[in-house]
Amino acid sequence: MVTTVRTPSQSGLARTFDSLNPATSEPIGTFPILGEDEVNDIVARAREAATWWSALGWKERQLRLMAWKSYLIRYIGRLSELVHAETGKPLADAQLEILLAVVHIDWAAKNARKVLSPHKVRSGIVALNQASSVEYQPLGVVGVIGPWNYPVFTPVGSIVYALAAGNTVVFKPSEFTPAVGGWLVSSFAEVVPDYPVLQLVTGYGETGSFLARSAVDKIAFTGSTATAKKVMAACAENLTPMVAECGGKDALIVSADANLDAAADGAVWGALSNAGQTCIGVERIYVAQDIYHTFLEKLAERVSALRPGDDREADYGPMTMPSQVDVIEQHIADAMACGGRAVVGGLGSIRRPYVGPVILADVPETSNAVTDETFGPTMTVTPVADLAEGVRLANASRYGLGGSIFAKNKKAGLQAARALHSGMTSINSVISYASVPALPFGGSGASGFGRIHGADGLREFSKAKSITRQRMKPMVNLTSFSRTDKDMKKILSLATMMHGKRYK
Ligand code: NDP
Repeated sequence: MVTTVRTPSQSGLARTFDSLNPATSEPIGTFPILGEDEVNDIVARAREAATWWSALGWKERQLRLMAWKSYLIRYIGRLSELVHAETGKPLADAQLEILLAVVHIDWAAKNARKVLSPHKVRSGIVALNQASSVEYQPLGVVGVIGPWNYPVFTPVGSIVYALAAGNTVVFKPSEFTPAVGGWLVSSFAEVVPDYPVLQLVTGYGETGSFLARSAVDKIAFTGSTATAKKVMAACAENLTPMVAECGGKDALIVSADANLDAAADGAVWGALSNAGQTCIGVERIYVAQDIYHTFLEKLAERVSALRPGDDREADYGPMTMPSQVDVIEQHIADAMACGGRAVVGGLGSIRRPYVGPVILADVPETSNAVTDETFGPTMTVTPVADLAEGVRLANASRYGLGGSIFAKNKKAGLQAARALHSGMTSINSVISYASVPALPFGGSGASGFGRIHGADGLREFSKAKSITRQRMKPMVNLTSFSRTDKDMKKILSLATMMHGKRYK
Protein backbone atom coordinates (compact mmCIF):
# COMPACT_ATOMS: atom_id res chain seq x y z
CA MET A 1 0.00 0.00 0.00
CA VAL A 2 1.21 3.49 -0.83
CA THR A 3 1.35 5.84 2.15
CA THR A 4 0.48 9.52 1.95
CA VAL A 5 4.13 10.50 1.93
CA ARG A 6 4.43 13.45 -0.41
CA THR A 7 7.86 14.22 -1.76
CA PRO A 8 8.79 17.91 -2.26
CA SER A 9 8.45 17.54 -6.02
CA GLN A 10 4.98 16.03 -5.72
CA SER A 11 3.65 18.52 -3.23
CA GLY A 12 5.46 21.61 -4.42
CA LEU A 13 6.34 22.31 -0.79
CA ALA A 14 9.76 23.73 -0.11
CA ARG A 15 10.05 22.62 3.49
CA THR A 16 10.32 18.94 4.29
CA PHE A 17 11.85 16.71 6.92
CA ASP A 18 13.06 13.11 6.91
CA SER A 19 12.08 10.30 9.20
CA LEU A 20 15.04 8.08 10.12
CA ASN A 21 15.41 4.56 11.45
CA PRO A 22 16.77 5.18 14.99
CA ALA A 23 18.94 2.05 14.91
CA THR A 24 20.55 2.55 11.50
CA SER A 25 19.86 6.23 10.69
CA GLU A 26 18.56 5.08 7.29
CA PRO A 27 15.90 7.41 5.89
CA ILE A 28 12.35 6.05 5.92
CA GLY A 29 10.49 8.85 4.18
CA THR A 30 10.32 12.56 3.45
CA PHE A 31 7.36 14.55 4.72
CA PRO A 32 6.13 18.10 4.27
CA ILE A 33 6.35 20.60 7.12
CA LEU A 34 2.89 22.08 6.95
CA GLY A 35 2.32 25.74 7.69
CA GLU A 36 -0.64 27.47 9.28
CA ASP A 37 -2.66 28.00 6.09
CA GLU A 38 -2.26 24.39 5.02
CA VAL A 39 -3.34 23.13 8.44
CA ASN A 40 -6.36 25.44 8.39
CA ASP A 41 -7.33 24.21 4.90
CA ILE A 42 -7.16 20.61 6.05
CA VAL A 43 -9.31 21.40 9.11
CA ALA A 44 -11.84 23.12 6.80
CA ARG A 45 -12.00 19.97 4.65
CA ALA A 46 -12.47 17.89 7.79
CA ARG A 47 -15.41 20.09 8.75
CA GLU A 48 -17.11 19.44 5.41
CA ALA A 49 -16.49 15.73 5.80
CA ALA A 50 -17.93 15.87 9.33
CA THR A 51 -21.39 16.65 7.95
CA TRP A 52 -21.31 13.45 5.89
CA TRP A 53 -19.69 11.28 8.57
CA SER A 54 -22.04 12.32 11.38
CA ALA A 55 -25.11 11.92 9.12
CA LEU A 56 -24.09 8.34 8.25
CA GLY A 57 -25.43 7.12 11.57
CA TRP A 58 -24.20 4.50 14.02
CA LYS A 59 -24.62 1.42 11.84
CA GLU A 60 -22.83 2.76 8.79
CA ARG A 61 -19.97 4.21 10.85
CA GLN A 62 -19.64 0.93 12.70
CA LEU A 63 -19.35 -0.98 9.41
CA ARG A 64 -16.58 1.31 8.21
CA LEU A 65 -14.64 1.17 11.49
CA MET A 66 -14.90 -2.63 11.47
CA ALA A 67 -13.57 -2.60 7.91
CA TRP A 68 -10.61 -0.51 9.09
CA LYS A 69 -9.98 -2.94 11.96
CA SER A 70 -9.99 -5.84 9.55
CA TYR A 71 -7.60 -4.00 7.20
CA LEU A 72 -5.11 -3.39 10.01
CA ILE A 73 -5.10 -7.06 10.98
CA ARG A 74 -4.76 -8.25 7.39
CA TYR A 75 -1.82 -5.90 6.82
CA ILE A 76 -0.30 -6.27 10.29
CA GLY A 77 2.87 -7.60 8.68
CA ARG A 78 3.52 -4.40 6.72
CA LEU A 79 2.45 -2.03 9.45
CA SER A 80 4.52 -3.78 12.12
CA GLU A 81 7.62 -3.67 9.86
CA LEU A 82 7.11 0.08 9.52
CA VAL A 83 6.64 0.55 13.29
CA HIS A 84 9.78 -1.54 13.85
CA ALA A 85 11.76 0.53 11.34
CA GLU A 86 10.58 3.93 12.57
CA THR A 87 10.70 3.37 16.34
CA GLY A 88 13.31 0.61 16.58
CA LYS A 89 11.09 -1.58 18.80
CA PRO A 90 11.18 -5.37 18.24
CA LEU A 91 8.79 -6.64 15.57
CA ALA A 92 6.77 -8.71 18.05
CA ASP A 93 6.24 -5.64 20.24
CA ALA A 94 5.07 -3.70 17.17
CA GLN A 95 2.60 -6.50 16.41
CA LEU A 96 1.35 -6.50 20.01
CA GLU A 97 0.81 -2.74 19.84
CA ILE A 98 -1.25 -3.09 16.65
CA LEU A 99 -3.29 -5.93 18.18
CA LEU A 100 -4.17 -3.73 21.14
CA ALA A 101 -5.22 -0.91 18.80
CA VAL A 102 -7.45 -3.35 16.91
CA VAL A 103 -9.16 -4.41 20.15
CA HIS A 104 -9.95 -0.75 20.84
CA ILE A 105 -11.29 -0.13 17.31
CA ASP A 106 -13.57 -3.13 17.74
CA TRP A 107 -14.88 -1.94 21.12
CA ALA A 108 -15.43 1.67 20.09
CA ALA A 109 -17.21 0.61 16.88
CA LYS A 110 -19.50 -1.81 18.71
CA ASN A 111 -20.29 0.35 21.74
CA ALA A 112 -20.62 3.91 20.44
CA ARG A 113 -24.34 3.62 19.80
CA LYS A 114 -25.12 2.10 23.21
CA VAL A 115 -23.11 4.71 25.10
CA LEU A 116 -23.96 7.84 23.12
CA SER A 117 -27.41 7.43 21.61
CA PRO A 118 -30.45 9.03 23.32
CA HIS A 119 -31.57 7.49 26.58
CA LYS A 120 -34.40 8.44 28.89
CA VAL A 121 -33.82 9.82 32.36
CA ARG A 122 -36.33 10.24 35.19
CA SER A 123 -37.82 13.71 35.20
CA GLY A 124 -38.42 13.92 38.96
CA ILE A 125 -41.41 15.21 40.87
CA VAL A 126 -41.06 18.88 39.92
CA ALA A 127 -41.08 18.05 36.18
CA LEU A 128 -43.40 15.01 36.19
CA ASN A 129 -45.14 16.28 33.04
CA GLN A 130 -41.86 16.19 31.04
CA ALA A 131 -40.28 13.31 29.10
CA SER A 132 -36.52 13.77 29.54
CA SER A 133 -33.62 12.32 27.59
CA VAL A 134 -29.92 12.84 27.13
CA GLU A 135 -27.82 12.07 24.07
CA TYR A 136 -24.21 12.64 23.11
CA GLN A 137 -23.60 14.46 19.87
CA PRO A 138 -20.34 14.74 17.93
CA LEU A 139 -18.19 17.81 18.50
CA GLY A 140 -17.29 18.20 14.80
CA VAL A 141 -13.55 18.06 14.08
CA VAL A 142 -11.05 16.63 16.57
CA GLY A 143 -7.32 17.35 16.31
CA VAL A 144 -5.17 14.45 17.54
CA ILE A 145 -1.53 15.16 18.41
CA GLY A 146 0.41 11.97 19.05
CA PRO A 147 3.76 10.81 20.45
CA TRP A 148 6.28 8.42 18.89
CA ASN A 149 6.60 5.70 21.53
CA TYR A 150 3.43 3.78 20.56
CA PRO A 151 2.70 5.39 17.20
CA VAL A 152 -0.29 3.11 16.49
CA PHE A 153 -1.83 2.27 19.85
CA THR A 154 -1.64 5.73 21.39
CA PRO A 155 -3.15 7.88 18.61
CA VAL A 156 -5.71 5.21 17.71
CA GLY A 157 -6.86 5.37 21.35
CA SER A 158 -8.06 8.90 20.60
CA ILE A 159 -8.74 8.67 16.85
CA VAL A 160 -11.14 5.73 16.89
CA TYR A 161 -13.14 6.95 19.89
CA ALA A 162 -13.49 10.37 18.21
CA LEU A 163 -14.51 8.76 14.89
CA ALA A 164 -16.97 6.36 16.54
CA ALA A 165 -18.59 9.33 18.27
CA GLY A 166 -19.24 10.86 14.83
CA ASN A 167 -16.35 13.34 14.53
CA THR A 168 -13.81 13.66 11.76
CA VAL A 169 -10.13 13.77 12.75
CA VAL A 170 -7.00 15.65 11.75
CA PHE A 171 -3.97 13.76 13.02
CA LYS A 172 -0.50 15.19 13.67
CA PRO A 173 1.92 12.35 14.42
CA SER A 174 5.27 12.95 16.09
CA GLU A 175 8.09 14.10 13.83
CA PHE A 176 9.78 10.77 14.72
CA THR A 177 6.93 8.60 13.41
CA PRO A 178 5.27 10.35 10.45
CA ALA A 179 5.44 7.27 8.21
CA VAL A 180 3.38 5.19 10.65
CA GLY A 181 0.95 8.12 10.98
CA GLY A 182 0.72 8.38 7.19
CA TRP A 183 0.12 4.63 6.88
CA LEU A 184 -2.75 4.77 9.39
CA VAL A 185 -4.40 7.65 7.53
CA SER A 186 -3.95 6.01 4.11
CA SER A 187 -5.31 2.71 5.38
CA PHE A 188 -8.43 4.49 6.63
CA ALA A 189 -8.85 6.18 3.24
CA GLU A 190 -8.72 2.72 1.62
CA VAL A 191 -11.85 1.68 3.50
CA VAL A 192 -13.52 5.13 3.58
CA PRO A 193 -12.60 6.72 0.24
CA ASP A 194 -15.67 9.00 0.05
CA TYR A 195 -14.58 11.95 2.20
CA PRO A 196 -11.43 12.94 4.13
CA VAL A 197 -12.72 11.66 7.46
CA LEU A 198 -9.21 11.05 8.85
CA GLN A 199 -6.44 13.36 7.59
CA LEU A 200 -2.75 13.77 8.27
CA VAL A 201 -0.72 16.88 9.01
CA THR A 202 3.05 16.49 9.32
CA GLY A 203 5.82 18.72 10.57
CA TYR A 204 7.54 19.64 13.81
CA GLY A 205 5.99 20.96 17.01
CA GLU A 206 5.04 24.20 15.29
CA THR A 207 2.66 22.32 12.96
CA GLY A 208 1.05 20.85 16.08
CA SER A 209 0.63 24.32 17.49
CA PHE A 210 -1.13 25.42 14.27
CA LEU A 211 -3.54 22.52 14.74
CA ALA A 212 -4.17 23.55 18.37
CA ARG A 213 -4.87 27.13 17.22
CA SER A 214 -7.06 26.07 14.28
CA ALA A 215 -10.85 25.80 14.20
CA VAL A 216 -10.88 22.24 15.60
CA ASP A 217 -13.51 21.55 18.24
CA LYS A 218 -11.21 19.62 20.56
CA ILE A 219 -7.57 18.62 20.84
CA ALA A 220 -6.60 15.14 22.02
CA PHE A 221 -2.97 15.53 23.02
CA THR A 222 -0.63 12.72 24.04
CA GLY A 223 2.94 13.65 24.87
CA SER A 224 5.06 15.23 27.55
CA THR A 225 3.75 17.41 30.37
CA ALA A 226 5.88 20.34 29.18
CA THR A 227 4.39 20.25 25.66
CA ALA A 228 0.86 19.79 27.06
CA LYS A 229 1.21 23.18 28.78
CA LYS A 230 2.12 24.83 25.47
CA VAL A 231 -0.75 23.11 23.66
CA MET A 232 -3.15 24.15 26.40
CA ALA A 233 -2.03 27.77 26.07
CA ALA A 234 -2.62 27.59 22.29
CA CYS A 235 -6.06 26.01 22.83
CA ALA A 236 -6.94 28.76 25.31
CA GLU A 237 -6.91 31.34 22.51
CA ASN A 238 -10.15 29.90 21.07
CA LEU A 239 -11.38 28.24 24.26
CA THR A 240 -10.82 24.90 22.49
CA PRO A 241 -11.22 22.05 24.97
CA MET A 242 -8.45 19.51 25.33
CA VAL A 243 -7.77 16.07 26.70
CA ALA A 244 -4.18 15.72 27.91
CA GLU A 245 -2.50 12.31 28.17
CA CYS A 246 0.95 13.11 29.52
CA GLY A 247 3.92 11.46 31.16
CA GLY A 248 4.17 9.39 34.29
CA LYS A 249 6.49 8.07 36.99
CA ASP A 250 4.56 4.92 37.75
CA ALA A 251 5.27 2.84 40.81
CA LEU A 252 5.07 -0.91 41.33
CA ILE A 253 4.62 -1.95 44.96
CA VAL A 254 5.46 -5.44 46.19
CA SER A 255 3.81 -6.67 49.39
CA ALA A 256 5.55 -9.15 51.68
CA ASP A 257 3.01 -11.86 50.76
CA ALA A 258 3.32 -11.37 46.97
CA ASN A 259 4.36 -14.02 44.48
CA LEU A 260 7.91 -12.74 44.02
CA ASP A 261 8.58 -14.46 40.70
CA ALA A 262 5.44 -12.95 39.18
CA ALA A 263 6.29 -9.54 40.68
CA ALA A 264 9.86 -9.63 39.35
CA ASP A 265 8.66 -10.78 35.93
CA GLY A 266 6.05 -7.99 35.78
CA ALA A 267 8.51 -5.37 37.01
CA VAL A 268 11.07 -6.27 34.35
CA TRP A 269 8.53 -6.13 31.52
CA GLY A 270 6.94 -2.94 32.88
CA ALA A 271 10.30 -1.18 33.20
CA LEU A 272 12.23 -2.44 30.18
CA SER A 273 9.81 -3.26 27.36
CA ASN A 274 10.02 -0.70 24.56
CA ALA A 275 13.32 0.42 26.17
CA GLY A 276 11.29 1.97 29.00
CA GLN A 277 9.74 4.43 26.57
CA THR A 278 6.24 3.81 27.94
CA CYS A 279 4.11 6.45 29.62
CA ILE A 280 2.71 3.76 31.95
CA GLY A 281 6.07 2.02 32.29
CA VAL A 282 7.35 1.00 35.71
CA GLU A 283 9.95 3.55 36.87
CA ARG A 284 9.87 3.15 40.67
CA ILE A 285 9.63 -0.11 42.62
CA TYR A 286 8.81 -0.17 46.34
CA VAL A 287 9.34 -3.51 48.05
CA ALA A 288 8.35 -4.69 51.54
CA GLN A 289 11.50 -4.83 53.68
CA ASP A 290 11.07 -8.54 54.63
CA ILE A 291 11.39 -9.72 51.04
CA TYR A 292 13.49 -6.85 49.64
CA HIS A 293 16.77 -8.74 49.17
CA THR A 294 15.16 -11.87 47.72
CA PHE A 295 13.14 -9.74 45.30
CA LEU A 296 16.16 -7.67 44.27
CA GLU A 297 18.10 -10.88 43.51
CA LYS A 298 15.27 -12.21 41.34
CA LEU A 299 14.95 -8.86 39.58
CA ALA A 300 18.70 -8.57 38.92
CA GLU A 301 18.87 -12.13 37.61
CA ARG A 302 16.11 -11.46 35.06
CA VAL A 303 17.35 -8.00 34.07
CA SER A 304 20.94 -9.18 33.52
CA ALA A 305 19.69 -11.65 30.91
CA LEU A 306 18.22 -8.90 28.70
CA ARG A 307 19.90 -6.76 26.08
CA PRO A 308 18.95 -4.06 23.59
CA GLY A 309 19.66 -4.31 19.86
CA ASP A 310 18.33 -4.19 16.34
CA ASP A 311 18.51 -7.92 15.64
CA ARG A 312 15.57 -10.32 15.87
CA GLU A 313 16.79 -11.77 19.20
CA ALA A 314 17.14 -8.39 20.94
CA ASP A 315 14.81 -7.88 23.91
CA TYR A 316 14.24 -4.22 23.19
CA GLY A 317 15.38 -1.64 20.68
CA PRO A 318 17.27 1.65 20.62
CA MET A 319 16.10 4.93 22.11
CA THR A 320 13.79 6.35 19.46
CA MET A 321 14.42 10.00 20.31
CA PRO A 322 18.18 10.67 20.58
CA SER A 323 17.85 13.53 23.09
CA GLN A 324 16.13 11.23 25.62
CA VAL A 325 19.48 9.51 26.23
CA ASP A 326 20.75 12.74 27.86
CA VAL A 327 17.86 12.65 30.33
CA ILE A 328 18.54 9.00 31.18
CA GLU A 329 22.25 9.70 31.63
CA GLN A 330 21.55 12.66 33.90
CA HIS A 331 19.11 10.64 36.05
CA ILE A 332 21.58 7.77 36.51
CA ALA A 333 24.36 10.25 37.36
CA ASP A 334 22.13 12.09 39.85
CA ALA A 335 21.05 8.83 41.52
CA MET A 336 24.72 7.80 41.98
CA ALA A 337 25.76 11.27 43.17
CA CYS A 338 23.00 11.18 45.81
CA GLY A 339 24.33 7.94 47.30
CA GLY A 340 22.46 5.42 45.14
CA ARG A 341 24.12 2.30 43.75
CA ALA A 342 23.73 0.50 40.46
CA VAL A 343 22.80 -3.13 41.06
CA VAL A 344 22.76 -3.85 37.31
CA GLY A 345 24.36 -1.58 34.69
CA GLY A 346 25.04 2.10 35.32
CA LEU A 347 26.42 4.99 33.31
CA GLY A 348 28.38 2.44 31.25
CA SER A 349 25.06 1.02 30.01
CA ILE A 350 24.72 4.02 27.73
CA ARG A 351 25.93 3.10 24.25
CA ARG A 352 23.98 5.43 21.94
CA PRO A 353 21.47 4.82 20.47
CA TYR A 354 21.15 1.92 22.93
CA VAL A 355 20.85 1.92 26.70
CA GLY A 356 21.40 -1.37 28.52
CA PRO A 357 19.12 -2.21 31.47
CA VAL A 358 19.85 -0.42 34.75
CA ILE A 359 18.67 -1.20 38.29
CA LEU A 360 19.32 1.54 40.83
CA ALA A 361 18.99 0.92 44.59
CA ASP A 362 19.25 3.10 47.71
CA VAL A 363 18.36 6.20 45.70
CA PRO A 364 16.99 9.03 47.89
CA GLU A 365 13.41 10.03 47.08
CA THR A 366 14.64 13.54 46.30
CA SER A 367 16.83 12.45 43.35
CA ASN A 368 15.39 13.28 39.96
CA ALA A 369 15.81 9.58 39.11
CA VAL A 370 12.83 9.20 41.47
CA THR A 371 10.95 12.46 40.95
CA ASP A 372 11.08 12.98 37.14
CA GLU A 373 10.03 10.84 34.18
CA THR A 374 13.16 9.00 32.92
CA PHE A 375 11.55 7.29 29.91
CA GLY A 376 14.38 4.80 29.62
CA PRO A 377 15.25 1.19 30.59
CA THR A 378 15.99 2.03 34.22
CA MET A 379 14.22 1.47 37.54
CA THR A 380 14.77 2.45 41.14
CA VAL A 381 14.16 -0.16 43.85
CA THR A 382 13.46 0.99 47.38
CA PRO A 383 12.59 -0.95 50.57
CA VAL A 384 9.43 0.07 52.48
CA ALA A 385 7.89 -1.13 55.74
CA ASP A 386 4.65 -2.32 54.09
CA LEU A 387 2.09 -1.64 51.35
CA ALA A 388 0.89 1.50 53.11
CA GLU A 389 4.36 3.06 53.09
CA GLY A 390 4.78 2.03 49.46
CA VAL A 391 1.53 3.80 48.60
CA ARG A 392 2.60 6.89 50.54
CA LEU A 393 5.90 7.15 48.65
CA ALA A 394 4.27 6.32 45.31
CA ASN A 395 1.79 9.13 45.91
CA ALA A 396 4.50 11.67 46.73
CA SER A 397 4.80 12.45 43.02
CA ARG A 398 3.40 15.21 40.85
CA TYR A 399 2.45 12.50 38.31
CA GLY A 400 -0.58 10.24 38.64
CA LEU A 401 -0.93 7.99 35.61
CA GLY A 402 -0.81 4.21 36.29
CA GLY A 403 0.70 1.80 38.79
CA SER A 404 0.82 -1.81 39.95
CA ILE A 405 0.39 -3.66 43.22
CA PHE A 406 1.62 -7.19 43.82
CA ALA A 407 -0.08 -8.74 46.85
CA LYS A 408 -1.60 -12.13 47.66
CA ASN A 409 -4.17 -10.73 50.07
CA LYS A 410 -7.03 -9.59 47.83
CA LYS A 411 -8.44 -7.04 50.25
CA ALA A 412 -5.07 -5.44 50.98
CA GLY A 413 -4.22 -5.33 47.25
CA LEU A 414 -7.50 -3.67 46.37
CA GLN A 415 -7.20 -1.18 49.22
CA ALA A 416 -3.71 -0.19 48.07
CA ALA A 417 -4.87 0.04 44.42
CA ARG A 418 -7.66 2.42 45.45
CA ALA A 419 -5.32 4.51 47.57
CA LEU A 420 -2.84 5.10 44.72
CA HIS A 421 -3.29 8.59 43.26
CA SER A 422 -3.38 7.36 39.70
CA GLY A 423 -5.95 6.91 36.96
CA MET A 424 -5.26 3.19 36.54
CA THR A 425 -3.82 0.38 38.68
CA SER A 426 -3.13 -3.29 37.87
CA ILE A 427 -3.12 -5.81 40.71
CA ASN A 428 -0.72 -8.77 40.28
CA SER A 429 0.16 -7.77 36.71
CA VAL A 430 1.49 -4.71 34.91
CA ILE A 431 -0.15 -2.37 32.39
CA SER A 432 -3.15 -4.76 31.98
CA TYR A 433 -5.75 -1.97 32.07
CA ALA A 434 -4.51 -0.65 28.69
CA SER A 435 -5.64 -3.88 27.04
CA VAL A 436 -9.20 -3.62 28.40
CA PRO A 437 -11.01 -1.32 25.96
CA ALA A 438 -13.96 -0.80 28.27
CA LEU A 439 -11.69 0.83 30.88
CA PRO A 440 -11.06 4.58 30.75
CA PHE A 441 -7.40 5.58 30.38
CA GLY A 442 -5.86 8.78 31.72
CA GLY A 443 -4.25 10.41 34.71
CA SER A 444 -4.23 13.41 36.97
CA GLY A 445 -1.75 16.07 38.10
CA ALA A 446 1.26 16.31 35.78
CA SER A 447 -0.03 13.21 33.95
CA GLY A 448 -2.86 15.25 32.45
CA PHE A 449 -6.64 15.19 32.52
CA GLY A 450 -9.62 13.75 30.69
CA ARG A 451 -10.02 10.13 29.59
CA ILE A 452 -9.65 8.15 26.41
CA HIS A 453 -10.88 4.52 25.95
CA GLY A 454 -14.15 3.04 27.16
CA ALA A 455 -17.46 4.82 27.56
CA ASP A 456 -15.70 7.84 29.13
CA GLY A 457 -13.43 7.98 26.07
CA LEU A 458 -16.45 8.08 23.76
CA ARG A 459 -18.07 10.83 25.83
CA GLU A 460 -14.80 12.78 25.84
CA PHE A 461 -15.34 13.37 22.11
CA SER A 462 -19.04 14.26 22.38
CA LYS A 463 -21.21 16.97 23.82
CA ALA A 464 -24.10 16.08 26.07
CA LYS A 465 -27.43 17.24 24.72
CA SER A 466 -30.38 17.31 27.11
CA ILE A 467 -33.94 17.38 25.80
CA THR A 468 -37.24 17.69 27.65
CA ARG A 469 -40.56 17.19 25.88
CA GLN A 470 -43.75 18.32 27.61
CA ARG A 471 -46.06 15.30 27.74
CA MET A 472 -49.00 17.04 29.43
CA LYS A 473 -49.90 20.34 30.99
CA PRO A 474 -48.24 20.80 34.41
CA MET A 475 -50.41 20.71 37.51
CA VAL A 476 -48.80 23.98 38.50
CA ASN A 477 -47.06 26.04 35.85
CA LEU A 478 -44.12 27.52 37.73
CA THR A 479 -42.43 29.06 34.70
CA SER A 480 -45.25 31.38 33.63
CA PHE A 481 -46.26 34.89 34.59
CA SER A 482 -49.74 33.43 35.14
CA ARG A 483 -48.35 31.64 38.23
CA THR A 484 -50.31 32.54 41.39
CA ASP A 485 -49.34 32.78 45.07
CA LYS A 486 -51.51 29.72 45.66
CA ASP A 487 -49.48 27.77 43.08
CA MET A 488 -46.27 28.70 44.88
CA LYS A 489 -47.72 27.70 48.27
CA LYS A 490 -48.70 24.32 46.86
CA ILE A 491 -45.26 23.62 45.47
CA LEU A 492 -43.47 24.86 48.60
CA SER A 493 -45.51 22.60 50.86
CA LEU A 494 -44.78 19.67 48.52
CA ALA A 495 -41.05 20.53 48.58
CA THR A 496 -41.08 20.73 52.40
CA MET A 497 -42.71 17.30 52.58
CA MET A 498 -40.15 15.81 50.19
CA HIS A 499 -36.96 17.56 51.21
CA GLY A 500 -37.59 19.17 54.59
CA LYS A 501 -36.93 16.13 56.79
CA ARG A 502 -34.35 16.80 59.48
CA TYR A 503 -31.09 14.83 59.11
CA LYS A 504 -29.00 14.21 62.17
P1 NDP B 1 6.29 15.58 23.04
O1 NDP B 1 5.58 16.32 24.10
O2 NDP B 1 7.66 16.00 22.69
O3 NDP B 1 5.47 15.59 21.67
C1 NDP B 1 4.15 15.11 21.58
C2 NDP B 1 3.52 15.63 20.31
O4 NDP B 1 3.34 17.05 20.44
C3 NDP B 1 4.37 15.42 19.07
O5 NDP B 1 3.54 15.16 17.96
C4 NDP B 1 5.05 16.78 18.93
O6 NDP B 1 5.47 17.04 17.62
C5 NDP B 1 3.92 17.70 19.31
N1 NDP B 1 4.34 19.03 19.72
C6 NDP B 1 5.56 19.46 20.14
N2 NDP B 1 5.52 20.78 20.43
C7 NDP B 1 4.25 21.19 20.19
C8 NDP B 1 3.58 22.45 20.32
N3 NDP B 1 4.20 23.53 20.76
N4 NDP B 1 2.28 22.51 19.98
C9 NDP B 1 1.61 21.40 19.55
N5 NDP B 1 2.20 20.20 19.41
C10 NDP B 1 3.50 20.09 19.73
O7 NDP B 1 6.25 14.06 23.50
P2 NDP B 1 6.96 12.82 22.84
O8 NDP B 1 6.53 12.67 21.42
O9 NDP B 1 8.42 12.92 23.14
O10 NDP B 1 6.32 11.60 23.64
C11 NDP B 1 6.82 11.17 24.86
C12 NDP B 1 5.94 11.67 25.99
O11 NDP B 1 4.61 11.25 25.76
C13 NDP B 1 6.34 11.09 27.32
O12 NDP B 1 6.30 12.08 28.32
C14 NDP B 1 5.26 10.03 27.57
O13 NDP B 1 5.07 9.75 28.93
C15 NDP B 1 4.07 10.69 26.95
N6 NDP B 1 3.06 9.69 26.61
C16 NDP B 1 1.89 9.70 27.31
C17 NDP B 1 0.93 8.73 27.07
C18 NDP B 1 -0.36 8.73 27.81
O14 NDP B 1 -1.30 8.10 27.32
N7 NDP B 1 -0.49 9.38 28.95
C19 NDP B 1 1.14 7.69 26.05
C20 NDP B 1 2.38 7.82 25.35
C21 NDP B 1 3.31 8.79 25.64
P3 NDP B 1 7.00 16.74 17.21
O15 NDP B 1 7.31 15.35 17.60
O16 NDP B 1 6.95 16.92 15.75
O17 NDP B 1 7.83 17.75 17.96
